[in-house]
Formats: sequence, structure tokens, C-alpha cells
Amino acid sequence: MLGEDGRMPARETPPRVQAPAPATQDLGGGVWSITVPIPDNPLRYTLVYLLESDRGPVLVDTGWDDPTGRTALAEGLAAAGHALSDVHGVAVTHHHPDHHGLSGHVREQSGAWIAMHAAEASVVRALHDTRPSRWMGRMSELMRDSGVPEEHLAGLGEFGGAKAPLATTLPDRELVHGESAGVPGRGLRVLWTPGHTPGHVCLYLDEPGRPTRLLSGDHLLPTISPVVSLYPEPLARRPAGDEPADPLGDFLDSLERIALLAPQEVLPAHQYRFADAAGRVGELLAHHAQRLAELHVQLGQGPLTLWQCAMGMHWNRPWSELGFIARHLALSEAAAHVRRLVKTGLAEELAGTEPTLFQAV
Ligand SMILES: [Zn+2]
Ligand SMILES: [Zn+2]
Repeated sequence: MLGEDGRMPARETPPRVQAPAPATQDLGGGVWSITVPIPDNPLRYTLVYLLESDRGPVLVDTGWDDPTGRTALAEGLAAAGHALSDVHGVAVTHHHPDHHGLSGHVREQSGAWIAMHAAEASVVRALHDTRPSRWMGRMSELMRDSGVPEEHLAGLGEFGGAKAPLATTLPDRELVHGESAGVPGRGLRVLWTPGHTPGHVCLYLDEPGRPTRLLSGDHLLPTISPVVSLYPEPLARRPAGDEPADPLGDFLDSLERIALLAPQEVLPAHQYRFADAAGRVGELLAHHAQRLAELHVQLGQGPLTLWQCAMGMHWNRPWSELGFIARHLALSEAAAHVRRLVKTGLAEELAGTEPTLFQAV
């Protein structure tokens, strides 16, 4: 909900001097990269990928929906020799507005199909069907249970009033793990990589005589780590109503599967393309292992609320300098890390505490 697709880079800081956003690029083999800006966001842009097919271009993600984004996408398509009306389909890596924002616009202009994983479609359906006031109510309840102080809760009200953009376009096709993504004549396969969101997918391009490429969405980025928080309802429990889901566990498992796949090139949705997928996975696994170990030590010193856990973890800036959204994302990340420790038997929830307290086992 909050922070659309913001990130807490934790200890990894992006370079201070930023290269200009890349222009539309022909990556060879009928694949193009189109840069669509994200307003007021340090990520600056989404890389939309275009795959040529017998039936017209298929886009992987579409970018942020505002006038600048619409123009950038149309111009990128034109540079690749296509019109917006030619688009045959849209495969969505996940529902965040910097990825799925323009999908509805593209479908309106072209009649393209929109495909996403079933778990992601459930989130979109819930966002589509639920009144914002209900989301906000549920969120303040969860935040109170996390020990969030009143002044931060007050900020939630203001943020809700600001009306965060939501990409609620419903898909018309499903992307199924292990199956073709449905791009005519192309060897593009779906890999379900839950973690950043419940139905995040990467798309694996494996065609004879060409290097293997992984279109990694937000799952695997060259220098930053996507936010992993608890899943939104209705996917907060798995199976429904039973075990709480473990998004960080899902994320780490998804990373390991990518390392085993060993694509020759990674085409991420932000930053830039890179080659060493396994090396990058190794860094991320080590990063999260260290954070889990630090949190375990913290919880060994006495029971803590999730808010206290977040305050004690290391972030890219001192806690006192984090603004409302950064603190909110920090709390979400802390919740996912504590959930992982509980799942792996290293921490436990103290029954009957309110706000809920956790301690190391
Ligand atoms: Zn995202
Ligand atoms: Zn993103």
C-alpha cells in the first residue's frame, strides 16, 4: 500500500553522481529496453522491455502512469518501430504502480491482453474491491499491534489523505510458473519468484543460438535490494486462514532458484543490466543472513515490539533522520525479518501481549 515501490537500500547506497537515464535501446534478438520515468522517486525510472513477436510487440511491465510516462512509453515504442496500438500483450512482473501503472492505458489503446501470476491477481483484485478507508483501518490496527507510537499513526492519516496511486487494472490472462509466458514464437518462460510481492514473476528468455536472459523485475537488481514486507491480505496467510506466510523465506528461496538457473544476462526493471546473477544472489543472501543474525542478537536482550526491532536495525540513515515513509518501510522489513526468525525457530511471539512482543529462543 504505502511507499508504492520505495526501497530501503539498507547499507547499500546508490552512487551519488547519476548517469543520465538510458534512451530506448535495441538489445538484440528482438528485445528492446524502454525507459519510463517514475516521478519524485530515487529509482528515477522503470525499464520496460519490449519483445518482438509474430503478432506484434509484447511488453514486460509498462511503467508509471502519468503524462510523462505515457509519452515516454509511446516514444520508446516508436523508436523500436511500433505504435502503441500494435501492442499484442503485456506480461506484468508484479502489481506495483511503477510496473503495472500503464497496463490499463496500453490495453485501452491496443486491445492487448494483460497477464500476471494468480497470486498477484488476487492482490490487485483486493486493491480493486476494497475501500481505501478499510485498508487504512486495517493498517492502523496492525501498526498499533506493532507498538507504533501515536505520532507515527497520525502520519498514516495524512498519508492516506494524500491518496497513494494504486495500479488496479485486472489481468485477463494468468502467468503460470514453468509455463510459456504466451509470447507467440518466443521462448519466454515464467518463473514464480515470490518475496517482494506474493505473485512476483521473472521471465526467462531461452532461445537457440542466443544468450539466456532473465527479465528480473524487482526481484534481482544490480545494487539495491527490494523491500520485503509482510504480504497484504488476502495472502498474509498460507493456505488461507492457516500458517502465516513468510515473504522473506520466499524471497530467499526465489533468489536461490535464480542462482541455479544461472542466466547469462539479467535485465532488471531498474538501474542497469548485469551478467553475474549468481554473484549478486550470493551478496543478497549474505546481506539478509547478517540482518537476521543482528536481529536475533537484539531479540536476545529482551522482548521487543516490531517497532522497537525496526528502530534497532541498521538502515541507510540513522533512525532519527528517517521520514514517515522510510520508517513505515523499515517497520515492514522488520516484520518480515521477525517472521522469518519465528519460522526458523529462532524467535517466538509472547502469547497474550499487546502490542505483540517477540523474543529470541
Ligand atoms: Zn516493486
Ligand atoms: Zn519497481
